[in-house]
Amino acid sequence: MQQRVLIVGAGLAGSVLARCLAEAGVPSLVIDSREHPAGMCYSSRDEETGVEVHRFGPHIFHTSNERVWAFVNRFAHWVPWVNRVHATNAKGVFSMPINLHTINQLFGQRLNPAQAREFIASKQDKSIVNPANAEEQLLRFVGREIYETFFRDYTTKQWGVSPRELSADIIKRIPIRFNYDDNYYNDIYQGFPQEGYTGLVQNILAHEAISVQLNTPYEAAMKGEFSHVFYSGPPDAYFQFACGRLGYRTVDFRYERGEGELQGCGCLNYTDMSVPFTRAHEHKYFSPWEKHDKSVVLYEYSREASGDDAPYYPKRMPADLAGLRAYLPLVEAEHGVSFIGRLGCYRYMDMHHVIASSLDYAEHFLAYRAEKVEKLRSMATDPL
Ligand code: UDP
Repeated sequence: MQQRVLIVGAGLAGSVLARCLAEAGVPSLVIDSREHPAGMCYSSRDEETGVEVHRFGPHIFHTSNERVWAFVNRFAHWVPWVNRVHATNAKGVFSMPINLHTINQLFGQRLNPAQAREFIASKQDKSIVNPANAEEQLLRFVGREIYETFFRDYTTKQWGVSPRELSADIIKRIPIRFNYDDNYYNDIYQGFPQEGYTGLVQNILAHEAISVQLNTPYEAAMKGEFSHVFYSGPPDAYFQFACGRLGYRTVDFRYERGEGELQGCGCLNYTDMSVPFTRAHEHKYFSPWEKHDKSVVLYEYSREASGDDAPYYPKRMPADLAGLRAYLPLVEAEHGVSFIGRLGCYRYMDMHHVIASSLDYAEHFLAYRAEKVEKLRSMATDPL
């Protein structure tokens, strides 16, 4: 047994944790089954166009957490960017998230904020008092037209089930505004790391107390060689699916390349069922400091994850949560192992949530160790 800890997964959760521990004098080995670091935020240059591509879908960093922002600024130069999403469907192209522009566009109005509030209030389904699912949440707050135009089909494509079967929480992520603010996020800080997300994670991992081994899947036998294991993969996979599989959505990407600008914006959502993909991203807008003659757009097709598919989104349907509860006794009995990150916690976390959570984990772990050492010391020095 050694002081070194094992961190499974070289994504944001694992790398941030490794860095905090390293700076406090705790060495780690970080392993990843993939051939690259950075996990799901891995980015690399598209050979044909030269554009930096977020290989597992767009990652737009945003946070209001000063601690998280200070941390990431130590490892990358951040270029400010505001995510302005558009939604396209049979009725036209609209501004997202739902704002005064969207309301005026959809209903052919020229309402001011107060008028729009009143107008939307007249559309709200007041018979729903406590929304029990995502559909009820939207009918209650924005009414049927907005729900059907922007949310019903998109959500069905994204999650593979009707919004009636989904928790209202999924929609609470999306703000609805009665002004012309079309910034997709409410956070204070938003932008991209100039060295790409792979560069960001590489810089976080660049510490003498951190060793990184890629192409290395976790094996149970490794556990005994370390003082603690932090596992950022899915808990069901860790226990070899002993209590069944938890539901995840995965995403397939279709690449389209061409000259000039292909889409005209970073993010375009396709909110009709007649189009099989959910959204498309023109990645050169994610590097506003670069100039590219060519361009690449990635179309996202969401589907149920199975077998070796990369799990993207934890579904958290009632059956999944019951499944997760079945794993809890196993997690409890598995001493010396902590589950971290979006997959490890089986939660819909953004990058800033993941970073904040790893900063907290490191703090707790170090405090626990310090307390243990302090207790031993006092046992050796205190009079009887
Ligand atoms: N959503 C939708 N229509 C849109 C955008 C979002 O119905 O045009 C719903 C959908 O259910 C989605 C959720 O809102 O899963 C959260 O959207 P977000 O853009 O935060 O998804 P992410 O970027 O995490 O995939």
